[in-house]
Amino acid sequence: MATTAETRLSFTKHPHPAPVAADVRAQVLANPGFGTAFTDHMVEIDYTEGAGWHDARVIPYGPIALDPAAAVLHYAQEIFEGLKAYRLADGGIALFRPEANAARFNASARRLAMPELPEDLFVEAVRQQVLADKDWFPTVEGGSMYLRPFMFASEAFLGVRPAKQYKFMVIASPAGNYFKSGAPAVSIWVSDYTRAAPGGTGAAKCGGNYAASLVPTAEAFSRGHDQVLFLDAAERKWIEELGGMNLFFVFDDGSILTPELTGTILPGITRSSLLTLAAEEGLTVREGRYSLDQWKADAASGKLVETFACGTAAVVTPVGKVASHEGEFTIGSGGPGQLTQKLRQKLVGIQRGEIADTHGWVTRIA
Ligand SMILES: *Cc1c(COP(=O)(O)O)cnc(C)c1O
Repeated sequence: MATTAETRLSFTKHPHPAPVAADVRAQVLANPGFGTAFTDHMVEIDYTEGAGWHDARVIPYGPIALDPAAAVLHYAQEIFEGLKAYRLADGGIALFRPEANAARFNASARRLAMPELPEDLFVEAVRQQVLADKDWFPTVEGGSMYLRPFMFASEAFLGVRPAKQYKFMVIASPAGNYFKSGAPAVSIWVSDYTRAAPGGTGAAKCGGNYAASLVPTAEAFSRGHDQVLFLDAAERKWIEELGGMNLFFVFDDGSILTPELTGTILPGITRSSLLTLAAEEGLTVREGRYSLDQWKADAASGKLVETFACGTAAVVTPVGKVASHEGEFTIGSGGPGQLTQKLRQKLVGIQRGEIADTHGWVTRIA
């Protein structure tokens, strides 16, 4: 449980004795890609049963020592988050809805029998990480700093029970614009594998869900598609989500639909933000079930006009083509739809401080 003492943990700082050379860093920042380069520092906080969270620190980025019997290596007791820090138009730095990531992190922790981290300590850890490496923002348009908070069981113990020791860490990676000028429409493969069963861990952001999605994703790639789509595990009929992105469907009557959160879908923060923005655009917003068959029929009749996927990393990605063992169909003209682009621009504008933030989503940290 959160205690005031933990909330007031102060971070000791150990600056990197030999940070990445400025010219090497400049090269990375001009062409950052995604998830391959890391900044000079990282945040670490330890948890010990009885003592709670302790020893918050900002230290040089580098390998960590782990006992070979550490529970995470055997039973995958691990959760993570993904959020971005943005350089604002006025040169400041902001996080987008970090308290929502903190709350979701704790929801994941509860499902994986892990200790919760006080939400303000989560946000402070992320803030410390960004400020320690504020020279690491990409110089390319649309660039940001991708932040990866995570927690794992570090106790050396092979019995099967929740561990008594954990590490919480934050690492940062400069990220380019996923798509240079407007996102191209992607092609998706409807998998025969399932991602999450009722009662399982589908709503938790845990590494294990991703491990299980690698084979279906590789299958989608080998068939020439960009992403994999999962149907529900019980009836193999209802659309759930992609491997790491939620889905939205846009109809010709001015309504928009996204699969409801039944416990087998990850509650995306981008999803939640777009629901709000779509309603403000005057669209009728629905959360409900949508079957693959209905999707195909609606795409053929023209009732369905756009489909897009969303998540922190790629923001909004139009879906142009859908393929399964039963054949293929095209969404709209097969390219990015108008509403998809409008919602994307609105969200990105708010994140970067170019459009007024009327929801208190943007947390300025510098
Ligand atoms: C993280 C994630 C998403 C998107 O969540 P955001 O908060 O919008 O980044 C969607 N699906 C899965 C499976 C995820 O892990």
